[in-house]
Amino acid sequence: MNIAVVGTGYVGLVTGVTLSEIGHQVTCIDIDEDKIEKMKRGQSPIYEPGLSELMLKNIAENRLHFTTHHEEGFYKADVIYIAVGTPENEDGSANLTYVEEVAIKIAELIEQDTIVVIKSTVPVGTNDRIQQFIHHHLIRNVKVEVVSNPEFLKEGTAIYDSFHGDRIVIGANSLQAANIIEQINKPFGIPVFITDIRSAEMIKYAANAFLATKISFINEIANICERVNADVEQVAKGIGMDQRIGNKFLNAGIGYGGSCFPKDTKALLKIAGHVDYEFELLKGVVNVNKQQQYLLLKKLNNRFETLNGMRIAVLGLAFKPNTDDLREAASIVITEELINQGAQVIAFDPIAMENAKKTLVTSIIYADSIEEALRDADAALILTEWDDIKYMDHAIFKTMRTPIIFDGRNCFELSSLKDSIIEYHSIGRPVVK
Ligand code: NAD
Repeated sequence: MNIAVVGTGYVGLVTGVTLSEIGHQVTCIDIDEDKIEKMKRGQSPIYEPGLSELMLKNIAENRLHFTTHHEEGFYKADVIYIAVGTPENEDGSANLTYVEEVAIKIAELIEQDTIVVIKSTVPVGTNDRIQQFIHHHLIRNVKVEVVSNPEFLKEGTAIYDSFHGDRIVIGANSLQAANIIEQINKPFGIPVFITDIRSAEMIKYAANAFLATKISFINEIANICERVNADVEQVAKGIGMDQRIGNKFLNAGIGYGGSCFPKDTKALLKIAGHVDYEFELLKGVVNVNKQQQYLLLKKLNNRFETLNGMRIAVLGLAFKPNTDDLREAASIVITEELINQGAQVIAFDPIAMENAKKTLVTSIIYADSIEEALRDADAALILTEWDDIKYMDHAIFKTMRTPIIFDGRNCFELSSLKDSIIEYHSIGRPVVK
C-alpha cells in the first residue's frame, strides 16, 4: 500500500516507520522543515528506543520517505493517516486546528479515492465531522472515507508496542474501509477490534481516563497509608494479585504527566459536559493528580524550615523513563517552585536534558551525571524512575552535604536501606532514617 502519514511526532513517526517496516511504501509529512531535514538524514528528532535503527533500515530499503510538501506525500497515497497534535485548549477541550488544517489540505490535493485514518486523539463526533468537512471542501470528484484508528502506544516502548500491542481499534462507517485498514495492519499480528466510529473515539478517552483513575486511586491510598503507617507498595501488591484488579498501573508517586493523560482526561470532562453530564469521578482523578505533583514540595517544606539557599539535586526530569518528553512533567511545577522558594537546583536526566533546557525555568543548573548533581547537595528529589537512578550505587549519597532523599517514584526497596546512611522519604511508605 502507498501510505502518507501527516505529522511526525511521537505517534506519526512511529506509525510511519513501523508501517514501512511491515512492507508498505510510506511518506511522512511534517511542516517542521528542520525535523524533516534531520529525518531525511536518518536522524530521529525524538528519543524512542529502537526507532532510529528502524528508520535507517527502511530509508535504506527505499520504503520510508520524508517531505514537507503535502502534495508529494498525497500523490498516489491509498491511505492518509492524520497524526498531528490535538493539544489542550485553555478551557480543557481538545484543539482540532491542526487536524482541520490537514483535512483542508487533503480536500484540496487528493486526486484519487482515499481512506483518511485519524490516529490523533479526537473528541467523539470529530471523525464524522472531518468526513463532512473534507467532502465539503473537495476540489476533485473523488471519494473519501474517514476511519478512526486511535493510537495506544506508550512513549518509551512505542516500537515494542507497535508490534506487541494488546489491540488495534478500527472505527468505521463502511466495513470495506475497515477491512482495508485491518489488512494494512495484519503483519503486526495484533488482535483487531472493529467497531463504529464514535465508539472507537470513545475507547481512546475511556482507556486513558481509566488508567489515570488507577493512578490517582493508588495515590490516594498512598496518602492514607502515610497517615496510618501502612506501606502502599505492599498494599498494591496485595490488591494487584486479585485478577479483577490486576497488578499494572498501581505505582504510587507524584502523579501522571505526559502529553496524553492530563489533556485527555480534561477533554473527556469537556465531552461529558457538552452532553450535560458531570463526570464526578474523573474530576476527582484530575484534582488528585494536580495535588500529587506538589506532594514532594510539601514533604520538603515539612522537613526544612526554609528552602532558601539550599542546594537541591533533582534526579529525573522526563515525565516518565525512556523518553525525552517533558510535556506536563511533574519536574516543571516542582523545579519552578523550588526556585521560587530560593533553592539552588542542580538537575540531571539521562536523556531529557536538551528538552529540559527549553522547557524548565532557566535558572536551573544542569549536571552531567547523577554524581555531579548530588555532590554537596542538602537534599535530593527523585522525579523519574530511570533505571540509572533505580539501580544507582548508594555510596554516591555520601558525597551529599546531608543525604536526605525525597523519592517521588518509590525507586528504592525499603528493605535495601536498612543500614543506609540516607534519610529517605518516599510516597505512601514509612520514612527511613
Ligand atoms: P506531537 O506534538 O509530538 O507531533 C505532532 C506533529 O505534527 C508535529 O511534528 C507537528 O509539526 C506536526 N504538524 C502539525 N500540523 C501539521 C500539518 N498541517 N501538516 C503536517 N504536520 C503537522 O504529537 P504526538 O505526541 O505525536 O501526538 C499526536 C496525536 O496522537 C495527539 O492527538 C495525541 O493525543 C495522540 N497520541 C499521542 C500519544 C503519545 O504518547 N504521544 C499516544 C497516543 C495518542
